[in-house]
Amino acid sequence: MLVQLILESSLKAISTPLQFVICSAAILLAIPALSQQTPPAHGPAVVPSYMDKSVRPGDEFYLYANGNWEKNAEIRPDRAGESPSSDIYDQHEQKLQDLIVAAAKAQDANSRRLAGFYHSYMDEAAIEAAGLNPLQPRLKAIAAISDTRQLAHALGETLRADVDALNMTDFHTNNLFGLWVAPGFDDSDHYHAYLMQGGIVLPDREYYLSDSESMREIRTKYEQHVATLLKLAGFDNPEDRAKRIFALEHAIAQTQWTLAEDNDVHKANNIWKSADFVSKAPGLDWTEYFRAAGLDKQASFYVWQPSAFTGESALVASTPLEDWKDWLAFHTIEESASVLPKAFAEEQFSFWGKTLNGVSVQQPRWKRAVAVTDAHLPSELGHLYVQHYFPPEVKAQVQAMVSNLIAVYRERLQSITWMAPATKSQAIAKLEALYVGIGYPDRWDEENFEVKPDDLIGNLSRSRMAKYQRERGLIGTVVDRKRWCMAPQTINAVNLPLQNSLNFPAAILQVPSFDAHAPAAANYGAIGAVIGHEISHTFDSEGSAFDSKGRLRNWWTKDDFAHFNAVTDRLAKQYDSYKPFPDLALNGKQTLAENIADDAGLAAAYDAYKASLKGQPAPEQDGLTGDQQFYLAYAQSWAEKLRPSALRNEVLTDTHSPAHWRVFEVRNQNEWYKAFDIKPDEKLYLAPNDRVQIW
Ligand SMILES: [Zn+2]
Repeated sequence: MLVQLILESSLKAISTPLQFVICSAAILLAIPALSQQTPPAHGPAVVPSYMDKSVRPGDEFYLYANGNWEKNAEIRPDRAGESPSSDIYDQHEQKLQDLIVAAAKAQDANSRRLAGFYHSYMDEAAIEAAGLNPLQPRLKAIAAISDTRQLAHALGETLRADVDALNMTDFHTNNLFGLWVAPGFDDSDHYHAYLMQGGIVLPDREYYLSDSESMREIRTKYEQHVATLLKLAGFDNPEDRAKRIFALEHAIAQTQWTLAEDNDVHKANNIWKSADFVSKAPGLDWTEYFRAAGLDKQASFYVWQPSAFTGESALVASTPLEDWKDWLAFHTIEESASVLPKAFAEEQFSFWGKTLNGVSVQQPRWKRAVAVTDAHLPSELGHLYVQHYFPPEVKAQVQAMVSNLIAVYRERLQSITWMAPATKSQAIAKLEALYVGIGYPDRWDEENFEVKPDDLIGNLSRSRMAKYQRERGLIGTVVDRKRWCMAPQTINAVNLPLQNSLNFPAAILQVPSFDAHAPAAANYGAIGAVIGHEISHTFDSEGSAFDSKGRLRNWWTKDDFAHFNAVTDRLAKQYDSYKPFPDLALNGKQTLAENIADDAGLAAAYDAYKASLKGQPAPEQDGLTGDQQFYLAYAQSWAEKLRPSALRNEVLTDTHSPAHWRVFEVRNQNEWYKAFDIKPDEKLYLAPNDRVQIW
């Protein structure tokens, strides 16, 4: 599961470049461009000027910590919100671009691939000159399909490793189906093949099926978009084809599972032998499909959404061949439209940017080029990023924090009175076996496809195929639990339940989450709480479905689960009582798992912080005690100003509480009351019995 802690709204960011850049002379020598932008950086250390000391901390801790910043912050017109660190993404992209541009001057194979890929994206003249040529062989092959066996072959050829159910939680593929290679639900020692539903282009089945006015409007515009792309590609009768393509996707959407169903792992644990597909999902020529996908030797698969496979396969038989051929042709064009000549790319942005996401101005081309290069050469770029921006001392320092947090959790689990010894020992076993990756992986996935500086579509296609072949090749082999699923240059973190592991990429271990030069109190309050949050997920309602080896096996006793639910119900009620708008409260159930993780993570981070002091007094700073700095750093890491519409949307759709109310988690922490001398008459005060403590 993706963390979405720091990055979820692309608002949390930093305003100054990393201190690392200033510290490392080697970087300045290697990449002169980087030395241009290095004003002094501040870390996650508490910034007193953000605080509003006219507010009592016990009345409104968020405003006490951030009120002054919020008063003075202005939301820029092209953004939905602002945080004290809004510029970090711009700067991060700039850093990645600098690395790629510098790579163009280097001679090693790694650098040449990066520079070549980036160049192929930036070379608009070459893209215009090539026109639709790069897609023609595929479009001709589709046009030549004359029977259902050939159709099955063409569909099988499209299968890619482009879905990921539990780590990146990406269930969407335009192709008929998607492949995810991961440890098996019942055999987590080996990689298995998971197959998932696909076949629609719009983000979710709701876009096809919902009755709402806005969805109906999107559907009309989508059908026009399909027709426009087909027309640009020279197809006759584009409107008629678009109608039939839409009808087919609509029928596919009807067979698909909802996102809520997709997220229920117990429903997904269905093994089909390859021979079962013919009887369980008749219609598609499965033998031909698997042969074309290079999976004809594969004995069995986990089928995530069985009824969707049955439904989609039946549609292959019941829908006219010509409709499927149009569907295939359109999907081929749609997949590449943003990197085709301008007319295609503009139509693509007009639908995906403006209609679907309300963005009026497209990002500059270099930013898109960096994002695509990053997505397709993550290891190549990651090596450079780590070399330049992730000094070994940061890794060591964060590793020490993680060890302290794990020790705290061990102690807390051991001393819980409500948990049965059997559950407790399994929780501790899970903790002992947890792999926490810091910065970058020990072993990198290498991408070995050919990069040509003048062939963007070819590069993308070879990249997807190389990834597919690599993943397919892993099936049946022994699982490397230390394998990563996120690149080091990604500002995020991830929990991999089937591997019982966490990844904290190098890019999240920077200001404002972490700064090697900041006081321990601030680092534990910021990144420490994030690490604690992630570890908590290992044991909670999500984590309890997977044991210490990542097998799908509930290891909680019934009584323990009942107790856990009773305690966490109280937390849900607490969050139900927060009202960002007079007519809209938070939904305590919707945000429960994340609030539990915040509660437990903050408590564990505090203990770990105290342990890190090794009995020495905490240094004061700006008149703030160590404990005060800890809680203020936590609160300031969540400073965020949102437009009301964005906040409303977040309250309705996000499984995390909005930043402002995440800060109110301090109410459940006994030490917070002591640190700020909170009195019973203050608004956030909770009597000791009403404070919710989970682990
Ligand atoms: Zn979480």
